[in-house]
Amino acid sequence: MQYIAPLTKLIEHFRSLPGIGAKTASRLAYHILDMEDAKAKALAKAIVDAKEKISYCSICFNLTDSDPCYVCESKQRDKSVICVVEQPRDVAAMERMRDFKGLYHVLHGVLSPLEGIGPDEIKIRELVARLYSGEVKEIIVATNPNVEGEATAMYIAKLLKPIGVKVTRIAHGLPIGGDLEYADEVTLSKALENRREI
Ligand SMILES: [Zn+2]
Repeated sequence: MQYIAPLTKLIEHFRSLPGIGAKTASRLAYHILDMEDAKAKALAKAIVDAKEKISYCSICFNLTDSDPCYVCESKQRDKSVICVVEQPRDVAAMERMRDFKGLYHVLHGVLSPLEGIGPDEIKIRELVARLYSGEVKEIIVATNPNVEGEATAMYIAKLLKPIGVKVTRIAHGLPIGGDLEYADEVTLSKALENRREI
């Protein structure tokens, strides 16, 4: 079946998104065509606004619309603990839990020699730089419990030991191979509570 050009384009954009196949892409595109003009425009504006207004915090590299982000800026947070995560969505998962009162550091990836991702490709140097103030006493590594996540945790532990900062790893209450992002609050809270030094 032939689509008209603007519709084809819209379907292609949806198809390029994660988890969206051909059928869903076409259903979404037709749904948008059926929408009221104002609603469709609001959706397009939300995408543009999100891209324009959201950037990375210059301290923790989480997504933010102000720099530093609200966590780094907060007087209520415990500045002696930094929780290291892979992606901004992991910070969102930790924040939903409400148990963690420290700061974050988003690596934007994990070490993966097979994919050519070394320490310089993720925000490890930036993490080390944050420790020179002497304020930080503990680094909790909350990378996902898979091969790359574990290897990254070990790398960070080895790197930070000489600096004299305690490095801990969240417990394996998390399902092996499971993502932090999808862990429920109780599991995540237990994993944090039962962290061990590495
Ligand atoms: Zn921040």
